[in-house]
Amino acid sequence: MEAEKIKLQNVSRIYEIGKGQRIVAVENVSFSVFAEEFVCIVGPSGCGKSTLLYLIACLEKPSAGEILIDSKRVNEPNPKVGMVFQPDSVFPWLTVKQNIEFGPALRNVPAEVRQRIAENYVHLVGLQGFENTLPRQLSGGMKKRVDIARAFANNPEILLMDEPFGALDAMTKEKLQMELLQIWENERKTILFVTHDLEEALMLGSRVIVMSRQPNTIQTILDIPFAHPRSLLLKTQPEFQEYRRKLWELLHLNV
Ligand code: ADP
Repeated sequence: MEAEKIKLQNVSRIYEIGKGQRIVAVENVSFSVFAEEFVCIVGPSGCGKSTLLYLIACLEKPSAGEILIDSKRVNEPNPKVGMVFQPDSVFPWLTVKQNIEFGPALRNVPAEVRQRIAENYVHLVGLQGFENTLPRQLSGGMKKRVDIARAFANNPEILLMDEPFGALDAMTKEKLQMELLQIWENERKTILFVTHDLEEALMLGSRVIVMSRQPNTIQTILDIPFAHPRSLLLKTQPEFQEYRRKLWELLHLNV
């Protein structure tokens, strides 16, 4: 068994919203993500998916329980952890290449190494020819590619992705899903990916964590047995449809 890269033990996050009122955003959640695993989290709106990622990124603190990365308790944001969220976080005043080089530049990576990193990721996300373009001249899907390239260029060991493709049209989304899988297969990062799109979870994840709302906790964790490399044709397979139905039932029928 691979090493536990991320481990949550009985984690809860409670928000006090005044007048003695509390919102339990995450309740008693325990799970592990193993090194180089791709795990998806699905669940209804408000079930605590984003909060879980914020907690792991240490942008929020748990009210109870503990979070470990590489067996060490998380106390501050960890440079091993990268994030891609739904809104684009590209800097509009920097070109595609400058955006991708931004993290390495902050870490004083020498210019020629930065150059190689940027070239590599521009290529991996298919943005050749757009290196010197400003984000406002790019489509939504292209901006998302810059976002992903930028996250990978920091060489994080762990990537937390919160509905990164949520705002894209179906075809662009499928294309980026395949690109992300390919990058993951090559670079073997540990990825935790939140989505409300069941097909996306099944296409990407080796396991899918299914969360419930009130209580905002884990309902079940499904192993997804489809072999890698995966292609879009997987969606046409009866086994895929069977898993889709199983997930749908878990979410809708509370079985
Ligand atoms: P999801 O990502 O699954 O839609 P969230 O993690 O965003 O769910 O939210 C879980 C619950 O916690 C929701 O009821 C939400 O309103 C609440 N919540 C999230 N952040 C805060 C906050 N900063 N203050 C108060 N309540 C919050």
